[in-house]
Amino acid sequence: MKAIKTAIFLGGGASAAEGAPVQSELFRDYWKLVRQKPELVDPTMLRELEDYFGEVFGLEIRGAEPDAVLFPTFEEALGVLDLAVRRRETLKHYDLENISRDSNRIGFIRQYLVLLMAAVLDHPAGSSKALHRRLLENLRQEDALADTVFLTTNYDLLLDRALAALPGYEPDYGFSGLMAGKGRPANGRTVELYKVHGSLNWLFCPACNAVDVTLREAGAARLLTGSRHSHCEACHSVVQPVIVPPTFFKDLSNVFLGVVWHQAERRLQEAGKVIFCGYSFPDADLHVKYLFKRAQTNRTRTLKFSVVNDHPGKKPGRVEEERNRYRRFLGSEVDYTELSFEDFATDPLRLYR
Ligand SMILES: [Zn+2]
Repeated sequence: MKAIKTAIFLGGGASAAEGAPVQSELFRDYWKLVRQKPELVDPTMLRELEDYFGEVFGLEIRGAEPDAVLFPTFEEALGVLDLAVRRRETLKHYDLENISRDSNRIGFIRQYLVLLMAAVLDHPAGSSKALHRRLLENLRQEDALADTVFLTTNYDLLLDRALAALPGYEPDYGFSGLMAGKGRPANGRTVELYKVHGSLNWLFCPACNAVDVTLREAGAARLLTGSRHSHCEACHSVVQPVIVPPTFFKDLSNVFLGVVWHQAERRLQEAGKVIFCGYSFPDADLHVKYLFKRAQTNRTRTLKFSVVNDHPGKKPGRVEEERNRYRRFLGSEVDYTELSFEDFATDPLRLYR
């Protein structure tokens, strides 16, 4: 096998550069979607989420202007429930499973929050600059695509769709060996894409222990409509999206995600360089940091790092804070560039040298 030379790691900023909503604005964007396209929203889910934000965070969302509501972050809304589950405690009005038949409201709200994210990411409001497409086209023209592996924390399908739009190409998510013959494209070329927090187009059947990949659409969004596609073709069980936000990390028991992490680590150990795009190296992502620390230390050749995370209007204080965060963890040699994702997508090879 040919050694992979460069790993491109995409964070939320890369998707934001192409118009996708950022994590901190997910709730606001969801309630804007509720107003604009109510037909896309499940009424039970909406009512439950409005009750949750009302009862736990004191927010009156019904009838309010989404821009005027001070929402908690996605991590906060999810993290509170996740800790309750982990400690086997409850919040007033929000119980775990018990002998009451309609119990486990916490479990439902957790799922609704994940589906909310799927709905928002599947209907981005922003304009698209097709930067992922541009990046891939340029890498292919320079014959560098075969020497590139992609990793991402993003659940959205911007890179997946851009890859599938290249004639003859498909993403290889790393778990095709587990998929009983239907994982690999028959005659196409694959580009490795490791989505370490899961993906909107991976639907997991817990009975079959199988994942169905819906390449060009966000399968998770189908679950919102309750269509027949929300059931496993083989056993008719209800499928679940494989989406694991950092607060959920104990759920890494999912065998598919375990394989993704294992393959990602192996590729990083073979890589000569990592280019971070739109990723701020947040403190909360300790699992990601651990992945890079292992790849950096368990090798003979030095692993080089470049960071691409500038955008118009970024405050100098934030730049310095972020640069320090990278350098204190990965070393003073980290090449912290002044490039935006658009600059990089336009001429990616400048960082390959
Ligand atoms: Zn099944």
